[in-house]
Amino acid sequence: MKYYEMKNEFVHRIPPKLEDGVLYICLACDVVIHKCACGCGEKVVLPLSPDHWQLRYDGEVSLTPSIGNYQYDCKSHYFIRNGKVIWVNDKDPTSKKKTRRKKKKSFFKCFRK
Ligand SMILES: [Zn+2]
Repeated sequence: MKYYEMKNEFVHRIPPKLEDGVLYICLACDVVIHKCACGCGEKVVLPLSPDHWQLRYDGEVSLTPSIGNYQYDCKSHYFIRNGKVIWVNDKDPTSKKKTRRKKKKSFFKCFRK
């Protein structure tokens, strides 16, 4: 089952058992860990650094760049923006509806060049 939203949890230590649909953010070890958003159960480890991933937190989590799990069978590729999973090449119309509903998004657009 694909996830379209991710909860976030700031942790001091990565828990041994990861829940689906949760981003575990460990600032002590500069890492974000989550189970692949496609639901395949693979553990995805994203190191936080200027050369790897950058985390933005404003109540919701955004990660840059996108997450491409090409090392796994599912070959998932998605962005995490404001706690939402945005699938690359996703044809599911429900995801579009969900993002459109949020008015906050258009507000942010004003600041983008
Ligand atoms: Zn997967």
